[in-house]
Amino acid sequence: MRNDRGSLMRPFPLPESASRPVVTPLSPSVVYASDTPDALDAQYEGRVQGYTYAREGHPNADVVAARIDAMEGATGGIVTGSGMAAVTAVLLGLLRSGDHVIGGNQLYGRSLRQMKEDLPRLGIATTLADAGDVDAVRAALRPETRLVLVEVVSNPALRVADIDGLAALCRNAGVLLAVDNTFTTPRAFRPFDHGADIVIHSVTKLLAGHSDVTLGYAVARDPALNEAMRVFAVTAGLTPSPFDCWLAERGMLSFDLRFDRAQATAEALADHLAGLPGVKRVIYPTRPDHPDHARAAALLQGQGCNMVSFELDGGRAAANAFTRAAEELAFAPTLGDVGTTLSHPASSSHRALSAEERAALGLGEGFFRVSVGLEDLEALREVFTRAVAEATGG
Ligand SMILES: *Cc1c(COP(=O)(O)O)cnc(C)c1O
Repeated sequence: MRNDRGSLMRPFPLPESASRPVVTPLSPSVVYASDTPDALDAQYEGRVQGYTYAREGHPNADVVAARIDAMEGATGGIVTGSGMAAVTAVLLGLLRSGDHVIGGNQLYGRSLRQMKEDLPRLGIATTLADAGDVDAVRAALRPETRLVLVEVVSNPALRVADIDGLAALCRNAGVLLAVDNTFTTPRAFRPFDHGADIVIHSVTKLLAGHSDVTLGYAVARDPALNEAMRVFAVTAGLTPSPFDCWLAERGMLSFDLRFDRAQATAEALADHLAGLPGVKRVIYPTRPDHPDHARAAALLQGQGCNMVSFELDGGRAAANAFTRAAEELAFAPTLGDVGTTLSHPASSSHRALSAEERAALGLGEGFFRVSVGLEDLEALREVFTRAVAEATGG
């Protein structure tokens, strides 16, 4: 038996270097060793900064949080293991039994489920209202209303919320306005500049951008609310993996470029689709025929998003033929990837609704949502022209 102390010693001393790595080191360590109990006291009492245990916090999460904080003009945001964990940290970290919450009626599917099932089960009453209609939200207010949760651009109908109107309403009523900024991203819209109190992201989508991590982010303007969310997230174990954070940071370094490119391509692709026979309608916020065009122009200042929705003639058969013909594009229910992805709400995100409910939302069998990626615009035009023609017999 060898008695090689070096093979057991942890933490093993790192090689000395007067220079520092340019890339954030990946820190998978779950535990952090301290010198003495006194040193640990200093850390727990906040006299020195230090990590103890990864569920409580780790460097890779803090780096990602600081980067998104900077993009949003925020401080003290938390990174969570998914976008839904961030939504959960906001709702369960800040609300109590007896509170009332108003949610946008076109929220992301799992956020809607929290509104409809989970919060009521825990004694938190909820009402859904159209985020584009301030009067409808005002009518839903109750004395015990504590928070309003909306998204800026809805999925998949791409309707634009009246954030300025909602911020004024919430300010007057003393209610927190939480904005899920996943679709718009801080590149197109900064909720804090418009009076929001809380910002939420699914970092999984455009910010990380490569469909290889699941992460979320939440931040409040009020440090006390940030602390409440952080403590709840740590207690409930909503912690992100260091490797996911490391990958997300790498992805975020190219975020601005990716967003600008995908958005410009989406806008041009929307116009191209609108001219194709077999396409019934196209939805894109900067198009003059968008139902919220004026609000989108005022709120997003000419920015749109990387998402385009459109409806094909011909129902499910045409939809099947379309995804088969568009074989270069992933038919997959995500968004914000470097590659263009297609989503068909009737068979995925909105499959739990009845055909009548989907029709009321304008989500028929021919409806597709496109998350535009970084491909060449000309190549995308060719794919869509061919696939629409094959699907609709053009
Ligand atoms: C995807 C998404 C979420 C949930 O994020 P996950 O990272 O998948 O948990 C929340 N809100 C919006 C708008 C999303 O698109």
